[in-house]
Formats: sequence, structure tokens, C-alpha cells
Amino acid sequence: MDKIYDVIILGAGPAGLSAGLYAGRSRLSTLIIEKGQDGGQIAITDEIENYPGQRVEGESGASLVARMAEQAVKFGCDRVSDTVNEVSLDGDIKVVKTTKEEYKAKSIIIATGAYARPIGCKNEAEYIGRGVSYCATCDANFFEDFEVYVVGGGDSAVEEALYLSKFARKVTIIHRRDELRAAKSIQEKAFANPKVDFMWDSVVEEIGGEDILSEMKVKNVKTGEITTIKADEEDGMFGLFGFIGTIPNSELFKGKVDMDERGYIKADENMHTNVEDVYVAGDVRIKSLRQVVTAAADGAIASVQIERKTTGYL
Ligand code: NAP
Repeated sequence: MDKIYDVIILGAGPAGLSAGLYAGRSRLSTLIIEKGQDGGQIAITDEIENYPGQRVEGESGASLVARMAEQAVKFGCDRVSDTVNEVSLDGDIKVVKTTKEEYKAKSIIIATGAYARPIGCKNEAEYIGRGVSYCATCDANFFEDFEVYVVGGGDSAVEEALYLSKFARKVTIIHRRDELRAAKSIQEKAFANPKVDFMWDSVVEEIGGEDILSEMKVKNVKTGEITTIKADEEDGMFGLFGFIGTIPNSELFKGKVDMDERGYIKADENMHTNVEDVYVAGDVRIKSLRQVVTAAADGAIASVQIERKTTGYL
């Protein structure tokens, strides 16, 4: 494609869509490229209750993000659904190669987000979709009246355990320490829920079962004791959901922008990476709080920086 955009935004989660809204309102010619579903991780979040001023209390991530996308398009952003395979970030004109096209822009905002970290137990990959899942919203209904185990102790693990308790007969949170990391208000709901139980100081070592997940070995990290958990005979299976943090979607940018050893991209407080006219926003960057509100703020800051540079204020 010959057109040179003012800015190409990679990713249509809260960071990318907010960047699109601000860029569009600044009359920057803007393209948002997203390979999958809008929303990134919040698209699969059942309930958002802490986005300031959200119109619907406890609305789903998908619903909130749909309004964000609508708003970005209303202010003139172009949208493309395609996978980015290569980026060239040197020089004044940045080039983004997707499966179908090649796009050019004066600035890039990387807003590619992060994805779920695997639990790390033996045989995990074999049971994905056969008992193992990383998305309660996607898979909870498969476990209607079954037993379910959730690994993790952060906001995601505890919130998703609460969601799963609406479907499963019993939900057991397996956490490697003896206290949760999740926000106190979320913890209180879990402790008060009679369907939610806890296995403290524990990690899942190995999973198994014929075709479908039906047994696992859980190790107590303090005593070394191994407990073998087997599916109830009538059930023949149980669910295992992993929510132990995220891995950044930054593979494409390795060696091209500065990042830490885990792959999170470095930025200053105005979202500038170490490469001229390349910005980063949202969960893919190094930051202390990964939330919808901070992702949206990052996107806004990045686009306003581009606007100011374009109009000569920077
Ligand atoms: P997180 O806050 O990083 O928590 C990860 C949890 O997994 C921790 O409890 C950690 O244990 C455990 N863990 C990490 N590696 C493990 C391993 N190898 N084996 C077993 N357990 C392991 O991740 P998150 O819950 O996905 O949340 C990510 C970010 O999104 C956070 O900033 C969170 O606040 C935010 N978030 C916010 C909301 C909300 O506000 N509604 C909802 C979801 C997520 P330790 O505690 O022992 O380290």
C-alpha cells in the first residue's frame, strides 16, 4: 500500500483503541492492525468493575471494548484484521508487513499486550482443550457441575475462580504461597463463597488421564508431600485453569527496541521507546500496574506525543 499513515497502532486492546481514539481526534491518519479479537485479554474477562465511570456495573470485557472500538472508528481510524509478521522500525518511514499487505507510517505504537503464562506442569500441552484452559469466560460452561481447579493467587486467578463457581460444583484455588496476592475486596468475595476452597503452598507437578484430564499430582512446597487428585468416578474428568500471570507479545520487536529479560518493552513516562517515533502502550511495556485504565492512559499519552511532534510542540 502506497499510503503513508501518520501512525500505525499494533493491537486493538484497551491501549491500542485508546491510542486510536486520541490519534483520530487529533486528525492524525491512523491505522489499527489487530490479528484476532479486539480487546486482547479483556475480551475474555467476564466482569470489569474497576474501569472508572464505566456505564454498566460489572459489565463484560467484550462489551466495554466494543464501545472503545466504536469510538476509535467514529473518530476516523482505519481498521485492518491481519497478522503482522515483520516490522522495520529504522528510518523515518516505518514498515509493517502483514500476511496480506505492507503498510507504512511515520510513527508506530506497539500495543500488542500479553498472553497467559502456562502452568508449567508435566503433560500440560497435551491436555489443553481437554481439561486445561486459560480462559474461564471461554470454557466455564464445559464444566457445569464438575470440579474445577484454578492455579494462581493474583486478581485473575481469584476473579476467574469466582466466575467459575457459577458453573462448577466446586472450585479449588491452588496457590504456591499461603496468602493471596489479589486485591482484598476480591479475596473477601472468594473467602465468603462456599463453593471456593483453597490448597495453600501447593504447585501442580503433573497431570494425566485417558484422553481427558482426570488426575493430577500436587506438591506441597513446604512439606514436599505429593497429593494425587483423581476425578470423581461419575464425573470422569475435572477442569484445570491457569492464571499465573502473563508473557508479553513482543517477539516481533526483539533486537529492534530495548526490552527487559522477560521481553517487556522499555519506555519513558511518555511511552517513547529507545527508537525514534516508536512508542509502546499497555501490558507489553514495563510498568507497575497492568489494568484497563493504565493501558488506556498509555495509549492516550503515546498518541498525544505523536500529535505534539507532528504539530511542532515537541
Ligand atoms: P499476577 O498479579 O502476576 O499474579 C500471578 C499469580 O500467579 C501470583 O499469585 C503468583 O504467585 C502466581 N504465580 C506466578 N508464577 C507462578 C508459577 N510458576 N507457579 C505457580 N504460581 C505462580 O497476574 P494476574 O493475576 O494475571 O494479573 C496480571 C495483572 O492484571 C495484575 O497487575 C493484576 O492486578 C491485573 N488484573 C486486574 C484485575 C482487576 O483489577 N479486576 C483482574 C485481573 C488482572 P505469587 O503471589 O506467589 O507471586
